Amino acid sequence: MPARETRRQPSVRSEDITNGRLDFSQHLLRHAAQDKPRIDFLSDVLMLILSHSGCHAVEIWLKEKEDTLRGEASTAKQGMGRFLIISDSNHDRMFEKVCAGALTGLLVPHPTCSTRYGSIWFDDTLKPLSRAARLADDQLPEDACIGGRYRSILLVPLRFSEEHSGLLLFKERGRGRFNVERIGYLETIAAKFELALLHQIAQARLRERVKELTCLYGIAQTASNPVLSFERKLEVIVSLLPPAWQYPDRACARITIDGAVFQTPGFKDGPYRQNAPICIGGRLRGTVEIHYRDERPFLQKNPFLDEEQSLIDNIAGQIAQMIDSRETEAVKSELRSQLIRADRLAAIGQLAAGVAHELNEPLNTILGFAQLAQKAQGIPEQTFKDIGKIAEASLHARNIIRELLVFARQAAPDRGRVNMNTIIMDELNLFEKLCSKSSVELRRITEKDLPEITADKSQILQVVSNLIVNALQAMPDGGVLTLETSYRSPWVCLMVEDTGIGMSEEVKENIFLPFFTTKDVNQGTGLGLSVVHGIVSSHGGEIRVESTEGKGSRFLVTFPSSEDTSEK
Ligand code: ADP
Repeated sequence: MPARETRRQPSVRSEDITNGRLDFSQHLLRHAAQDKPRIDFLSDVLMLILSHSGCHAVEIWLKEKEDTLRGEASTAKQGMGRFLIISDSNHDRMFEKVCAGALTGLLVPHPTCSTRYGSIWFDDTLKPLSRAARLADDQLPEDACIGGRYRSILLVPLRFSEEHSGLLLFKERGRGRFNVERIGYLETIAAKFELALLHQIAQARLRERVKELTCLYGIAQTASNPVLSFERKLEVIVSLLPPAWQYPDRACARITIDGAVFQTPGFKDGPYRQNAPICIGGRLRGTVEIHYRDERPFLQKNPFLDEEQSLIDNIAGQIAQMIDSRETEAVKSELRSQLIRADRLAAIGQLAAGVAHELNEPLNTILGFAQLAQKAQGIPEQTFKDIGKIAEASLHARNIIRELLVFARQAAPDRGRVNMNTIIMDELNLFEKLCSKSSVELRRITEKDLPEITADKSQILQVVSNLIVNALQAMPDGGVLTLETSYRSPWVCLMVEDTGIGMSEEVKENIFLPFFTTKDVNQGTGLGLSVVHGIVSSHGGEIRVESTEGKGSRFLVTFPSSEDTSEK
């Protein structure tokens, strides 16, 4: 029952509020509309309710997901309108048990101490609790009382949304301080507070959404900027992340991709962290992380919103797309340049074949007549020698032409089964002697059970010979020449590696072009590697080169194995 001995009545009444004479509602809504952290909003509103309720103290309990937030303001203590998070295990005091029970619906009020609104009042907290209410699930002693320094307490339930519930507690030091009229007034305050809270939650959600969209828009703009390098884009993107989070001042961000790290200035691993993986083609390539770097507690146990998890997942997805399209572009441009190179080689090949055909005729005539002239009787010795030089030069020219024809794939191949191990173990006698003469150690490593390839054996020998000749010429002071076969289904591979002079980037770019040579006129024609390229391509294979100036070169030749080709 409300006590009759009420001495200190509030100076404001419910009709004052409803008549609009007071600006309590406006104040509340103004607080709700401001862009301030939730904890500040709740603290300010608590003080506002205290001043408008005329009570000695006001307390708010709010239940949000797994968090229970609690704040108290009192006329006795300045600055008491602070909000705390209380853990569920902290309900040892009877008062807290009662509040927790009210929050979870376990507090069953006595009909004479409750209103239609669901509020419960305690006229004298030193009297047994059972007079006003009981806890449904708890065996409280008969004489249990709330105690404490406030003897009158009004407990108004807040049920403003599905996810949120709470309590507004009005406290007075004297006993029996709540009568029907006053309870009605305080319930009106509670109802206004519920509205303001709903408004604040909706506003805050809207603001979060705007921040998220601004961030996503910024990322999309940055990703499609053609002027920025990939690294610069990631630097810009990482700087766009903290402002999209609930506590931007405390947030820092880091993006890691394939070991490369992009982070906001002063990044520090913090106790609160949210992250999302960056996956491309099912493979984990990195992460996006947001950390709250300082140790100060937050209003909630988990300061990250569900929406923020979706946002960070979305951002990781956008970054993955950026990497994916960059890599696809790189592969495309490599393919394009390979095509251009192949086109150029084919054009040169055709031209060379035409010229070679035209020159073959007159060269054979020169050679034939030179040999005939040498056989003539009584020619002076010097003339004999000169004619010999003509014949020698014509032979050299004819060799070049033969190579040109091979390069242009004009010579008909004679294909059969070829074992690459046999080629490097049994067919290189000539080079063994050459190596030992030039102080070059010849190492041969063969793959066991290497499949055969379908090839023109003489052409394969030419490939190997050309590569070995180049390797030996690159090691004028000796070194190591390694020939190694291997099998990476469906490819039979041959590696020719030397420890010679190596090549500059510019030389490496041009080596497969016909007539490209860095050697003296007598040493090289510039056709060796073009011929090798032509033969390898005509066998459906590939050739690649790796080289470091001053350290050596490695040629990797691959041919499709006969087994795999026949299976296909
Ligand atoms: P040539 O040997 O007649 O010059 P190639 O087509 O065989 O013609 O080679 C072209 C050029 O490639 C060479 O002049 C040389 O500069 C470079 N080259 C080829 N093989 C090697 C190697 N093993 N080490 C260093 N440079 C090489």
